[in-house]
Amino acid sequence: MNPAEQAPAYIRSIAPYQAGKPIAELAREMDLDPASIIKLASNENELGFSPRARRALEAAISGVARYPDSNGFELKTVAGRKWGVKPEQIVLGNGSNDIIELVARTFLTPGSSSVFSQYSFAVYHLATQAMGAEGITVPALNYGHDLDGMLAAIRADTRVVFITNPNNPTGTSCMPDVLQAFIAKVPPQVLVVLDEAYSDFMPRERLPQSIKWLARFPNLVLARTCSKAYGLAGLRVGFGLMHPEIASLLNRVRQPFNVNGLALAAAAVALEDNEFMAQSVENNRLGMRQITDALERLGLAYIPSHGNFVTFHVKHAAEVHQRLLRQGVIIRSLASYDLPGSLRVTIGLPAENTRFISALEVALQPR
Ligand SMILES: *Cc1c(COP(=O)(O)O)cnc(C)c1O
Repeated sequence: MNPAEQAPAYIRSIAPYQAGKPIAELAREMDLDPASIIKLASNENELGFSPRARRALEAAISGVARYPDSNGFELKTVAGRKWGVKPEQIVLGNGSNDIIELVARTFLTPGSSSVFSQYSFAVYHLATQAMGAEGITVPALNYGHDLDGMLAAIRADTRVVFITNPNNPTGTSCMPDVLQAFIAKVPPQVLVVLDEAYSDFMPRERLPQSIKWLARFPNLVLARTCSKAYGLAGLRVGFGLMHPEIASLLNRVRQPFNVNGLALAAAAVALEDNEFMAQSVENNRLGMRQITDALERLGLAYIPSHGNFVTFHVKHAAEVHQRLLRQGVIIRSLASYDLPGSLRVTIGLPAENTRFISALEVALQPR
């Protein structure tokens, strides 16, 4: 008997996460100069990250012989001040991916279930499956969450509902009052994980007062990240904001040193660099217009987005994607998201957006 066969069937049947293609990998595959490649595939911040956080990061290097602060005291103090929560309401994660997994590991078991939307972040399904629980996918409504459908899908064995606002990969978002009414209707013993990875890019009138909801809904967990607008994807820092009793459970399950020292130091400074955040949001606003204007000019339909990316529909999407790769432009195929006719592009710097648009024009030419 082969040891791999001893792993539970629910583990062996997991389909691996498909990440955006790294620049170095495309350079190897197509024999391209890495410096000539642009990557607009993983919703990273093309502006980079806060220069003040860079200085904190450099200063922290001399401390790497020591274990990091297991409780993340300083980062929780800064995050608590910024968002108006108490440190005991915060769980720090190795990215918010870690928070999603901690919720799954704490609450899901074989025989239980989680509920999420079609076309939402793949990690909800992966984290659920890894626990041997059942993931219930609710068909999307206009590429967004069908909140009534999700409510109806909750079963007696459901422990967690995942909502992404704005949603990745479609960029849709829910109106705050509608979302609040939904959370109020979820049975109180079922956790609602509100994944706000892209909320920094959300138009003000669409931004929910989700922190205020924490006092009213002890079953609410907010997931936030430094990977997107803050530009620290490579460091891996995320936050779960929740009732202290839930936080205490997640803190028992997590690895004691799940967030490394460099990440803790840089994130504590990045969170308070409002100038860099304002630049990121403005770059995104302008770039979103640049790219959607071009899509309209090219006659390509797209899903209006509240994130730092836009998903558009195109004939022969797989081939267009390949043709972009051959020109050194990496964007995201959505075939693994059940959207084989769509591609997702991250908003880049103005020159990167221009390069993407001209490469797309070339890729669209008849064969
Ligand atoms: C990118 C992303 C995350 C966060 O990723 P981390 O880097 O692990 O913080 C979480 N949810 C969604 C929907 C995302 O797109």
